[in-house]
Amino acid sequence: MRQRRSLTTAILLCLLIATGAAYREFRVRPDGFVHVAVLDVGQGDSIFITGPQGQQILIDGGPDLSTLTGIGTRMSLFDRSIDVLVLSHPHLDHVASFPAILKRYRVGTVILTGVAANASPYREMLQILKDQQIPVLIADPMKDVDLGGGMTLDILWPPPEYAGMETTKNPNDTSVIAMLRFGEDAMLLTGDMEEAEEQELLATGQDLHADILKAGHHGSKTSTSTGLLLAVGPDLAIISAGLDNQYGHPHTQTLNRLAHFGVPVRVTAWEGTVELVMDGL
Ligand SMILES: [Zn+2]
Repeated sequence: MRQRRSLTTAILLCLLIATGAAYREFRVRPDGFVHVAVLDVGQGDSIFITGPQGQQILIDGGPDLSTLTGIGTRMSLFDRSIDVLVLSHPHLDHVASFPAILKRYRVGTVILTGVAANASPYREMLQILKDQQIPVLIADPMKDVDLGGGMTLDILWPPPEYAGMETTKNPNDTSVIAMLRFGEDAMLLTGDMEEAEEQELLATGQDLHADILKAGHHGSKTSTSTGLLLAVGPDLAIISAGLDNQYGHPHTQTLNRLAHFGVPVRVTAWEGTVELVMDGL
């Protein structure tokens, strides 16, 4: 009797696991829209984008390995590839998981600035890129990236001359700035851009208007200046920051500036991973 009961329990458990797996596969299937998940990785940045045809793009890799969990739950159990990785700049809170991701997944292309930096995960990442001969694109505003299915990544900044440079700038201000476009929708991705880079970006005269602004540098007071907000005119700002972080991000002054322009704000520290859908309309 006891044996029969444990067999029934085992069968029920298997059915439950199979149903869970089937639901997950259903949930992550391509549906013609762009899904953006600003992952809750604590004090850092990591944004996972799934395209209308299932393309996968990861912008930054967070301060630890929590990006692996974030992307793992948003991918098919059988999927071991990512189309594009973008490293905005080589600070630890953006690059930490990239070596592990490059070892675990087949990555199609990596986009970075190539600035010289000594952070050990960055050096490890560059070595893996070299060893595995993974194609690398140095960020170049003249070479935008067609992600397929009507989705593009318009690189806005910096110029390719940053590659190999021992930067004397604040490394935050070497961040890749890119506009993710899908149909009529646009999201401005800013890495850790602070005011100096915002001024350089504004001086290029490029069209910065976007529906969604991923606010620079975790909502610090030295980012998301009035000039940038006027040029972008976002309907929504997203800030990636850790709960009770030592820097006081997001800063009250930044939140006040956004409130002044009537821009609603979503913060990963307050609500966990922020999920958005771009329908292109
Ligand atoms: Zn950062």
